[in-house]
Amino acid sequence: MSTTEFRALEYCSDQTFAEALYGLDGSTEQGYCVTRNGRVHLELGPGYRLLRSLACGVCSTDLDRHCLPFPLPQVTGHELVACDENGVRYVVEINASHHARAVMTSCPYCSSGLERHCPERLVLGINDLPGGFGPWVLAPVGAAIPVPAAIPERAAVLVEPFAAALHAVTTLNPEPGERVAVLGPRRLGLLVVAALSGLRKRTSGDFRILAVARHRELLELASSFGADDGLLVGGSGVSLPLRSVDRVIDTTGTPEGLYLAIQLASREVHSKSTHGRPAAGMSHLTELVVDELGLAKFTSEAVPDGALVAWLVETPPPADLEGRVRLVRDAGAAAARHLLERRERKCREGELAPFDVAVVGSSVQADSAIRPSEAHQRSLVRPGGSILVHAAAPGEISPLVRAVVDRGLRLSSSRCGSFRPALDLLANDPRLCRQIEQLVTHRFSARELDRAFETARSRDCIKAVVEHD
Ligand SMILES: [Zn+2]
Ligand SMILES: [Zn+2]
Repeated sequence: MSTTEFRALEYCSDQTFAEALYGLDGSTEQGYCVTRNGRVHLELGPGYRLLRSLACGVCSTDLDRHCLPFPLPQVTGHELVACDENGVRYVVEINASHHARAVMTSCPYCSSGLERHCPERLVLGINDLPGGFGPWVLAPVGAAIPVPAAIPERAAVLVEPFAAALHAVTTLNPEPGERVAVLGPRRLGLLVVAALSGLRKRTSGDFRILAVARHRELLELASSFGADDGLLVGGSGVSLPLRSVDRVIDTTGTPEGLYLAIQLASREVHSKSTHGRPAAGMSHLTELVVDELGLAKFTSEAVPDGALVAWLVETPPPADLEGRVRLVRDAGAAAARHLLERRERKCREGELAPFDVAVVGSSVQADSAIRPSEAHQRSLVRPGGSILVHAAAPGEISPLVRAVVDRGLRLSSSRCGSFRPALDLLANDPRLCRQIEQLVTHRFSARELDRAFETARSRDCIKAVVEHD
């Protein structure tokens, strides 16, 4: 058992910082009790280890933290480099699932490779678990990964967003001859360009990278990161060449960005936006990204063999699906909610609740498949699953659903990525390391969090990093 006490700045719902006194009592085997201002704040089970935070990057999630559905105040910060009592440096994957904590569990998510979606997880620096803007963290034992010596600290602090960028790029998996656009090459976008260029080099891939931005200096930076071409967007961006690229990765984090991405892409838009606002005529696209779902046009081929399918449209399923997949039909107005409730009852018997695929007929239905009920944050479709649009209803207003049905556009999404491939790529590519180090334009002491946040919001800052002394 050990006791560690420290003062840390908490982020409050009015977007200010205030100091609180924290205590971490316990051990990896017995679990930790986190106290805040002398009161019990969190009782954590086993599977956490105490690490000292060295540096932590400020990202858009931190700047928008007051819009996310998790309690405040909290010690935030999730792009973390930390060290143990022997000075070994670690980066820390943020999802504290059963799997990451290496605890025995019957959790259906953790035992089927979906641990990043474990419904009981805390998230370091985002949901409850104190983050890297404080001097000490409790890291899930399986989530603290040693940093190879070849990676300097300023590059290591970008491993979390770089892993997310790399995951997006590998999910997208461009084909030979394609043009891939990165919309909004700034904090995350430049890492996406770097990841595309790194992937292309490693796999001898043959695709072109186009950076699309509103500022010329970002296009220049993107070109030094490996973009082949740049496109400057003026005004509202409506004059962009329609469907001029095969795939677009939208890193703008804005509803307007998604709209432009739909115009530009002929085959696929990949979204990483979790701004929480309605976009492209749909309400729950942030939740779609959180659950890493895809949206595409229904074809029989799009439904994998053996899939559990929620068929939510009146039109009967084509004969070739019968026997090949498991179909559950319900086409009423509250169909998605009914089906979710029915499956939830089964879930208690240890089965992963949601469907692999939901087939819908409108943006309203797609939204209701993503979040059938206000009461809980669960989709009808399992994490990584698909929502397929059969045929849009007349009067469909969502430009996204229209593009999906009329021209077969796909929307894919991703949230975070695993660190090992990112560390691998960086450790073996010193040039890439030096490039992403350049993204850290501003550094602050952990006592200057408000200045760090203010600067991170300004136009001349790409990445602000907070360092502990
Ligand atoms: Zn982040
Ligand atoms: Zn779990």
